[in-house]
Amino acid sequence: MNIYQERRQRLSSQLGPMDVAIIPTAPTRTRNRDSDHPYRFDSYFYYLTGFVEPDAVLWVNAAGESVLFCQPKDLEREIWDGYRLGPDEAPQALGVERAHSILDINHYAPQYLANTESIWFPFGTHEGFDQKINAWISALAIKARAGVRAPQVIKNACLILDEMRLIKDAHEIQIMKDACSISAKAHIRAMQLSAQSIRAKKPIAEYHLEAEMLHEFRRHGSESVAYTSIVAAGANACVLHYRADKAPVKDGDLVLIDAGCELQGYASDITRTFPANGRFTGPQRDLYALVLLAQEASVEATRAGAPFTAPHEACLRVLSQGLLDLGLLNTKEHGHVDDILENRHYSAYYMHRTSHWLGLDVHDCGSYVQAALPQSQTPSWKQMSLQAPNSPATAAQIPSSTPRKLEAGMVLTIEPGLYVRPSAHAPEAFWNLGIRIEDDAWVREDGVELISREVPVSIEAIEQLMAS
Ligand code: CA
Repeated sequence: MNIYQERRQRLSSQLGPMDVAIIPTAPTRTRNRDSDHPYRFDSYFYYLTGFVEPDAVLWVNAAGESVLFCQPKDLEREIWDGYRLGPDEAPQALGVERAHSILDINHYAPQYLANTESIWFPFGTHEGFDQKINAWISALAIKARAGVRAPQVIKNACLILDEMRLIKDAHEIQIMKDACSISAKAHIRAMQLSAQSIRAKKPIAEYHLEAEMLHEFRRHGSESVAYTSIVAAGANACVLHYRADKAPVKDGDLVLIDAGCELQGYASDITRTFPANGRFTGPQRDLYALVLLAQEASVEATRAGAPFTAPHEACLRVLSQGLLDLGLLNTKEHGHVDDILENRHYSAYYMHRTSHWLGLDVHDCGSYVQAALPQSQTPSWKQMSLQAPNSPATAAQIPSSTPRKLEAGMVLTIEPGLYVRPSAHAPEAFWNLGIRIEDDAWVREDGVELISREVPVSIEAIEQLMAS
């Protein structure tokens, strides 16, 4: 049995006895006129099949059987668009019980749905697909007089699949390590190019560094970036979702690069911040050392059994103390560390979370809170306190919930940062510095492994690398 068959069996075993799961892959998307975006399969579908062609739908029933609908063989189309596996070869190649042409799905779907009870379908993954399901149910309902039962319930397959995908198996961990190795090489290359160019007084811009990254990703076999690369020189690093643009990389700047490749569908996600010329200035060094200290505390807090929020809380405590020590916050105005934490004063400089799940998607699926206990009482609409339209959610209004516990096999990012915009509160020496350090952490039974550390992170190691 291959890994995909094994995953389909695990999905199947969690369905009710009369249930069926229907998992479509992603549609192709037009970029402009007759030109498409590069095709990317749906992550749930790929997780269960390893199949990368568009126009395919996987069906799994409770008996552990799978049926694939896929593109039919078509020599004319294959000359233009490339090889298609086709329904005849699919059972052998993918271990499914049966395969049909996707062109016949409306014909076969009602037959496969006959006398089933619930349909599991990943909500929100494929626009318009629920309408197809509704049409198949309607087609089947017409036969109700002949005694055929149509499914009565549509359930969210993400409830099952998210939990499966959250715990990575050995096969996935190996791919993610390989992806991180490639991304690390790319970061190293960008750091070196930056220092070399500044030393040679050769003008470079953000996009030159991005080009180095992309070159390195691709030449090691990565099929894509895992997300749009951020290459931000100088003050641009304070824009959280900045992209690589045309700004010059200047002597004395810090450069923040948040970029990772995708390999066999799996994301890597690494951020490094380095001095463009290879040497940190005093204030850059102070702020960088603080972010690194916060990351170390986060890593320390990341272990099986700890709550998901533990790394974030560890990070906030270190950053808050450091902001006091560096004069970015002061005790007269902001109180001591506990006051700063309670009143979230750090958020002037640190406004994002420390971690997210990582996997087939860069912000991978999986709940961050423990499953809610079954409601014993129907909530009363009359007593419910509603939030008015356009009222900003405050921390107090966000319902508190119990964070889930970290488990062996989970992979998450650890990415503290500090972003200092010019303001009356911040010493001028720190203005326009934006620093983030991000590594990918694999939670193991016996601790945590940072799988992205082939790129240096300490001040000494970065300076040494960039001097060579
Ligand atoms: Ca990132």
